[in-house]
Amino acid sequence: MVYRVAERLQAPRGTFDVLPDDSERREAVESAARRVLGGAGYRRIETPAFEATELFARGVGDSTDIVQKEMYTFEDGGGRSLTLRPEGTAPICRAYAEHGMHRLPQPVKLWYLGSFFRYERAQAGRYRQFWQVGAEAIGSDDPAVDAESILLLATLLDELDVREVRLRIGSLGSPDSRVAYRERLVAHLRAHEEELAEEVRVRIDLNPLRAFDSDHPGTREVMREAPRMIDALSPQDAEHFAAVRAMLDAAGQPYEVDPTLVRGLDYYTRTVFELTSDALGAQSGVGGGGRYDGLVEQLGGRQAPGMGWAAGVERILLAAGEQPVAAPEVDLFVAVDGGDGARTAAFAVAAEGRRARMHAQLELAGRSLKGQLKQAARVRARYVAVVGDTSSALRDMDTGEQTDVETETIVARILRERGLGA
Ligand code: ATP
Ligand code: MG
Repeated sequence: MVYRVAERLQAPRGTFDVLPDDSERREAVESAARRVLGGAGYRRIETPAFEATELFARGVGDSTDIVQKEMYTFEDGGGRSLTLRPEGTAPICRAYAEHGMHRLPQPVKLWYLGSFFRYERAQAGRYRQFWQVGAEAIGSDDPAVDAESILLLATLLDELDVREVRLRIGSLGSPDSRVAYRERLVAHLRAHEEELAEEVRVRIDLNPLRAFDSDHPGTREVMREAPRMIDALSPQDAEHFAAVRAMLDAAGQPYEVDPTLVRGLDYYTRTVFELTSDALGAQSGVGGGGRYDGLVEQLGGRQAPGMGWAAGVERILLAAGEQPVAAPEVDLFVAVDGGDGARTAAFAVAAEGRRARMHAQLELAGRSLKGQLKQAARVRARYVAVVGDTSSALRDMDTGEQTDVETETIVARILRERGLGA
């Protein structure tokens, strides 16, 4: 292959580089998740970045936008169809079944943080590779699982200072009550076919619930009169939903019941919810999830109810206030004032400092002594060692005091001054 020399390559459309300045804010999301979710007994899980395509076709559902048009699917060298994961719940249910986690105390509570891939129209807050933090509790249908799961996401967003958050909840009932409801909804849509958006009309039979999501004016008008799942819940489903609401009330968590809340994945049953931030523009969804009582079984495992959510890391950061990031501490900056001998000796001092668990930085760019001291101040070094060919000096950057020292004693001296030495 011949490459044009001057061509400057760029990251693919819809992707971005996480630069060092950004990665510190992202680490704050990770440590808050570890604190909030770990504190509630959730343990971290990682699944592969790609899975068999069939997992998502079966798990997320053939009729969803995700499976129909958003997946990055490819064939590997062995002719298998694989897909970069567009979401995390189906893989975790696969892992639950594959590792026989039903034998563990239930529910099994798991959290994850990683990147996900969807072929979408790239815009602010919408990317083709993005990060999600998520939590799943598998193995119990207790409404307390639902309420706790919702509350954990609300708490996480609160800890991260996500502004103007609103919680909407709904219930999609169980598959049995949904079949009867679906027929009534399809009949309603058929009776108003001419008023519907083209894309809704062609999917009446495939995915009628998605009509609630349309922003087409004619469709919205038709949906105002449409039968609502929330009015068609079985007594058991209604009771479950009431119990979830009572617990959110008891915990003082504000929410709105949204009878038209549908989510873009087929596996949801009973509780669904979404957290949005008014601080975001058009892409206002920060996180959401719900209960998926049939998913593990649908993937070939034994029946196990589940509940979980995912939140977008980039949207969290977009909706969060600016938070000061603490600069990392540098214990020792090793400067060089001399020739080759000094450079080698300086290298050894930095290495010794690191062995003693110091954060040590070494001059790497051949700066003048003045430039090195400036660099040491820039990285906020506590001590600067100026290593020469025959002698060295140690400067305490807090007091400005400088003493001549033997090169071999520099690290021991700092440890002694800080009360860490032998
Ligand atoms: P949206 O309505 O914005 O398309 P969604 O319903 O597809 O969101 P989920 O599948 O529920 O989103 O994923 C949970 C969260 O992941 C979203 O609330 C959002 O914060 C984030 N997310 C989803 N898709 C993207 C994307 N393409 N880029 C960035 N973040 C995303
Ligand atoms: Mg989407």
